[in-house]
Amino acid sequence: MPLTTQSIELEQHNIPETTLEEEQVHSLFSSIPVSLSATIALDLILSIAQWRVIGHAELILWNSIMLFAICLRITCWFFWRNQNQRIDTAHWLTIFRCGVWLAGAAWGCSAFFMLATFNPTYQALLSFTIAGVTSGSLTTLAIDKQSALGFVVLSVCPLTLRLFMEHGPIALPMGIMSILYIIFVLSASTRARHNLEDQYNKNARLIAWGKERIKLQQLSKSISQAQAQFIKDSDIKNTFPQLLTNILALTESTFGFIGEIFFNKDNQPELKIHTLHSITQDAQLNLFYQKLAQENLVLTDMNNLLGAAILKGKSIISNNTSKDMRGGGMPDGYPALSTFVGIPIFNGTTQVALLGIANKIDGYDEKVVELLKPVTNTIAQFIEATRHAHQQKLYEEKIHNNTKHTKAILDDVFDAIITINQYGKIKSFNHAAETIFGYQEKEIIDTNIDRLIPELLNSNPDIYQTTHSYTIGAGQELSGLRRNGKEFPIDFAISKLSIENEPIYIGVVRDISDRKHNEELKNQFISTVSHELRTPLTSIAGALGILNSGSLGKHADPQQKLIDIALNNSIRLQKLINDLLDMEKLLANKMDLNIVPLCILEMVTKAIEINQMYADKYHVKLKLVSTPKSTQVFGDADRIQQVCANLLSNAAKFSPATGIVEIGINIKGRFARVTITDQGEGIPEGFRTKIFQRFSQADGSDTRIKGGSGLGLAISKELIQRMNGNIGFTPNQQNGCSFFFELPLASKVNDH
Ligand code: ADP
Repeated sequence: MPLTTQSIELEQHNIPETTLEEEQVHSLFSSIPVSLSATIALDLILSIAQWRVIGHAELILWNSIMLFAICLRITCWFFWRNQNQRIDTAHWLTIFRCGVWLAGAAWGCSAFFMLATFNPTYQALLSFTIAGVTSGSLTTLAIDKQSALGFVVLSVCPLTLRLFMEHGPIALPMGIMSILYIIFVLSASTRARHNLEDQYNKNARLIAWGKERIKLQQLSKSISQAQAQFIKDSDIKNTFPQLLTNILALTESTFGFIGEIFFNKDNQPELKIHTLHSITQDAQLNLFYQKLAQENLVLTDMNNLLGAAILKGKSIISNNTSKDMRGGGMPDGYPALSTFVGIPIFNGTTQVALLGIANKIDGYDEKVVELLKPVTNTIAQFIEATRHAHQQKLYEEKIHNNTKHTKAILDDVFDAIITINQYGKIKSFNHAAETIFGYQEKEIIDTNIDRLIPELLNSNPDIYQTTHSYTIGAGQELSGLRRNGKEFPIDFAISKLSIENEPIYIGVVRDISDRKHNEELKNQFISTVSHELRTPLTSIAGALGILNSGSLGKHADPQQKLIDIALNNSIRLQKLINDLLDMEKLLANKMDLNIVPLCILEMVTKAIEINQMYADKYHVKLKLVSTPKSTQVFGDADRIQQVCANLLSNAAKFSPATGIVEIGINIKGRFARVTITDQGEGIPEGFRTKIFQRFSQADGSDTRIKGGSGLGLAISKELIQRMNGNIGFTPNQQNGCSFFFELPLASKVNDH
């Protein structure tokens, strides 16, 4: 912020201001040419008329006196016309009076030089001329009592005196006329003076009103200029200096400043000077400015006149700053100020700025505070707008940085992250998405997500209808479409957010081509190995079975024990291989099911019979608890047995010794539900979501001890789903858990 000294741009309206005396002098001097012309004309007429009556010497002498008076007055008039300001009004008035008195005396001299003794006709002519001159002059001289009175006395009295001395016939009327003249002059002069004063006062009031109007006009022009500048720059940097310069011109001040008030962390006000302006540059002011600049133009000391205005929140007017000790006087090192006004500026109830103006020669009054109100209001608005803009800028910067930060994170993640709007239009596309799909962000933005995931809407039909924020889908396996037209498997999760009432969908896409490929290889490998193992293992198990049956002779105890172990393990291995092959068949969609109506009770009873032998090993009893009569379901008999075997063997395996596994059948809507409830440890909470996944086992020592492949439930789930049923479990409140499977009813039944 420079220390500004630029000239103001407002028009100057100079209304000439004159005092009453100046008006008077002007009027008196302006009348001189006319009055001198009349004087010369009357002088000539009188001289010619008297030429034959009185002595020529007297006539010439009187004319000389008259000429002298006329010349002197012309000279005065000439100087007045070309006057310079060195002679003031009072002096011109004195000069004029002397001239008029001289002219009066010159006319008065005519009584001594031009009176035609013993010729009453010419005496009357002289008297008539003097009376005419006097009364004529009075029309202009009346506005100055001294001039008028002096002229009348000096011009009329000598003739009156002469006439009395001569005992002339018109002496008495002439004397009375003189007295009347004097009275008339006095009253006319007083009246003329009053008229002049009235006129003058009216004019003065008019001028003051005009000036006030002009000031207001200039004020609103300054405000408009400042507003235009502020709108252009959105900054007070250029606005305030210009506004301040105009304020100084309007208030006839030579120094001023506009400062913004901040409150520090201790809630103490500080004044940040935005602009400082001086019409007259001086060394002390420069020094003060430099000192202030070192402190970032911030005044923190409030123990001074400025501080008093801020702390009191009221305008301070000081017309003698050197003696004004309010608040401690002027701040240290402040430029020499004779008069000062400090106006605190409020925005609502908050003090936001201080306007200071100084050095008006004849001092300030409350009127100036009133006059500047529109300006101070404007300053408050500018400061408020600047503060608001500053806040906005900070906020935008923060948002920009956050956006950059988020984008950097999104671009760095391995998965493709795509956001779409409620119409399916792509709104953002990270680096990983570019790599996976082969599109550049700019070419895919605002196109439809169908271009990348054609089956998205089919697999999530309600996607754009839901209004609340939640995860719509996670871990869906869909097909993606690359830019080159090739399809590839993706793992897709989508969630919905609502930002400012606008729904935003965030899709996370993982290319699972490699994973799928590896899975295929693994499945192929397992399938091949299992097939290769099954035939020799069947022979081994068969051979061990014959040995174990004793048909080839009795074995000693140690041999029999080894045969038992070998047989058990070969059966276990057979089960594992069968499970693996089943799973592979299911995944490859190669398992054909023979779905027919079946009696579920028969199925379950048979399963209990078959699996009781296995349960006996764990000293567990399988018990049928509730059954509907002859309920037919749709299913494949062998596969239902397989599912029952899995669930019953698990229940027995995980039950405590002498535990009871309860098996119930009931009808649930369109399904018959088989529930198998055990009294074991139950399913650990963290494992519940994974229990139906392939090869998953709760990683407890129990499971390991009890053996198993982790495939039984996965196969059961696949089988039940293919039979259009459901499978699941519910943890029991105390111990154990209930596994269930449901199969569609083949006929309508009545539940028990
Ligand atoms: P496994 O052949 O290992 O039994 P499953 O798929 O049948 O394979 O079971 C998977 C895992 O689920 C088991 O290893 C066990 O941890 C848990 N599980 C299954 N049934 C029960 C049950 N009734 N009680 C406790 N845990 C069970």
